Amino acid sequence: MEGCIFCRIIKGEISSQKVYEDDRVLAFRDINPQAPVHIVIVPKEHLATLNDVEDYSLYGDVFKAIKKIALDNGLSEKGYRVVANCKEDAGQTVFHVHFHLLGGRVFKWPPG
Ligand code: 5GP
Ligand code: ZN
Repeated sequence: MEGCIFCRIIKGEISSQKVYEDDRVLAFRDINPQAPVHIVIVPKEHLATLNDVEDYSLYGDVFKAIKKIALDNGLSEKGYRVVANCKEDAGQTVFHVHFHLLGGRVFKWPPG
């Protein structure tokens, strides 16, 4: 979608540190990492928020990728957190569906 930062990353118009790619999913390092490992996983299809997801097989593709990326980045043994922010109250800033994979440190719960 025109003007969408993550669509521009998917198209290669904006550079990113890619860590995983398949036909439906792209993952790259977050530009402002909140943990030693902070990777953003996005569907290649532009969908603004989780409310717009109708093909739920997308979640299978995303979480299959997350499991592999976690393993490849040394997070499988000690664990990791997956976060998806939906709209304003959750703090979503980029309106292209995405999941944060965070690891390499201990996280608090509840998140606040
Ligand atoms: P949100 O707050 O919408 O859940 O997360 C958006 C994330 O995208 C933020 O963690 C932010 O640092 C990241 N981000 C925003 N613009 C860019 C960019 O141009 N490149 C990369 N690699 N990450 C970005
Ligand atoms: Zn987009």
